[in-house]
Amino acid sequence: MAALSSVPMSRVAGGPMENENGGKADRPCRLTVLGATGSIGTSTLDLVGRNAGLFDVIAVTAQTNARELASLARLHRARAAVIGDETLFAELKEALAGSGIAAMAGPAALVEAALMPADCVMASIVGAAGLKPTFAAASQGRRIALANKECLVSAGDVFTDEVARSGAELLPVDSEHSAAFQALAGADPASIEKIILTASGGPFRTWSREQLQGATPEQALKHPNWSMGAKVTIDSATLMNKGLELIEAFHLFPVGVDALDCVVHPQSIVHCLVSYKDGSVLAQMAPPDMRTPIAVALAWPRRMAAPTEKLDLTRLGSLTFEAPDEVRFPALRVAKAALRRGETAPAVLNAANEVAVAAFLGRRLKFLDIASLVEDTLELAEKQGAIRKAAGLDDILAIDTQARRLAADRLARY
Ligand code: NAD
Ligand code: MG
Repeated sequence: MAALSSVPMSRVAGGPMENENGGKADRPCRLTVLGATGSIGTSTLDLVGRNAGLFDVIAVTAQTNARELASLARLHRARAAVIGDETLFAELKEALAGSGIAAMAGPAALVEAALMPADCVMASIVGAAGLKPTFAAASQGRRIALANKECLVSAGDVFTDEVARSGAELLPVDSEHSAAFQALAGADPASIEKIILTASGGPFRTWSREQLQGATPEQALKHPNWSMGAKVTIDSATLMNKGLELIEAFHLFPVGVDALDCVVHPQSIVHCLVSYKDGSVLAQMAPPDMRTPIAVALAWPRRMAAPTEKLDLTRLGSLTFEAPDEVRFPALRVAKAALRRGETAPAVLNAANEVAVAAFLGRRLKFLDIASLVEDTLELAEKQGAIRKAAGLDDILAIDTQARRLAADRLARY
């Protein structure tokens, strides 16, 4: 059993929110968006803008785009806007002049934003940078719409323990986990046979290993179905994303590693299938638009309108499925091994992968070497005793730093 069997399944379903915006019945839902300028952040605010009166935006944050952050803050009448990069404070302040919106800057201010009273926090900062602010939101017992994968991948039990301790509610935003959550609603853990996440297969699904050797960042950034931030798009091309998602699923749902699987489904219509011991298989379907899982998380247990294309199966004609190829896509094999190894192996995997993806985007690493660099880093970390049970968030952050250093050193050999 995953360590977390009691957290989201019991906390998520039938949470305390009363109306269709996740707020109390008599007032709008107070919402903070961490990573507001990103792909998930802007989709979230798009839904907020289309549902006037349902949400009251408290804080919005970003790392570098001060002007866009200020304009989002003004548009949604946020109370505060926080820029992670301190050198941009003056620019943010100037862009907010006369608006009455508080401007703040720096990593500590990101945490402060997460601590401001709110009913729901959208955790959509990319990468391990999202750990501290998301932990801060969790510590307050908030509803957390969790897009950031790294809290579960890197911090795993440490994060879910904090969620359980504080009484926070975790609602998955990653589309496959939102689908699993919906298909699992209320299920007795003993009745679940398998949770099968789907993968689009990315832009290189049909490429040979030889072709993959020469894959460029431009080619890898052209996802066939989803429009997402750069990091997750590269992870989708290597299938590392599916590996990270298996780790997320392990921490979210009350099943063991052997009950988790993935299948390639190029149309990205079915997002997850849950099979039960009586032979029933429940799948969640939706056109590939992140506004659907975001709306699920914001409104649960109700449903809110999302302006997405409606599913027309007759127009699609067929849905196809195939087994993932771990020879052409070794990142999936490496991630599965890290999941089985447990302890801090997924934190090392994630840190090394962030270094590898940045190097690939900077043309310092070949596409297939992303998985090799991550695998090498895991081996080195094991030798150095860095793969062990984590003591807490600070320990995870120290392992993350150590793994990044190991990966950066190793990168010189490629
Ligand atoms: P993105 O790159 O589009 O946006 C990231 C946001 O985080 C931006 O607002 C950026 O300013 C902020 N940010 C970046 N670095 C930061 C730092 N060091 N400190 C503080 N803030 C920082 O990313 P995204 O695609 O929106 O993804 C966000 C998270 O959601 C990721 O963890 C991703 O894996 C996950 N996710 C995304 C999608 C998707 O469709 N985009 C789907 C599933 C899961
Ligand atoms: Mg996903």
